[in-house]
Amino acid sequence: MVMSRLQKIPVVEEKKGNPLARVFDDLVRFCRSRSLFILHYCTGCGAIELPPAMTSRFDMERLGIQPMVSPRQADILLITGYVSIKTLKRVILTYEQMGSPKYVVGICSCTVNGGMYWQSYATAKKLD
Ligand code: SF4
Repeated sequence: MVMSRLQKIPVVEEKKGNPLARVFDDLVRFCRSRSLFILHYCTGCGAIELPPAMTSRFDMERLGIQPMVSPRQADILLITGYVSIKTLKRVILTYEQMGSPKYVVGICSCTVNGGMYWQSYATAKKLD
């Protein structure tokens, strides 16, 4: 399946001599072959970190990254902010609705290791 997508994109310059250049070209073509659809799950103050990346200053759509409203069409579950034990159930439910291949990206310290809420009894300390 990946190979069929790669074949649709023309190779501009064939570098036959250098095997590393060929691997790099394949990687670049693979990255260009498909957009990443993200579903953001924003909690706490981490939610305000996302709009600057989405709007005109950094404009993530020019890199092919687009927000998606449904977990069924999303490739990446982007979690910003802390995750409490209560919201963790919703995160897992959302993750289970996503199709494979799927990835989870935490963009805040609080998401990954509890951050400034690490002493709280209600915060998930390690999000794998
Ligand atoms: S790391 Fe924690 S405190 Fe900092 S912006 Fe993210 S959620 Fe807020």
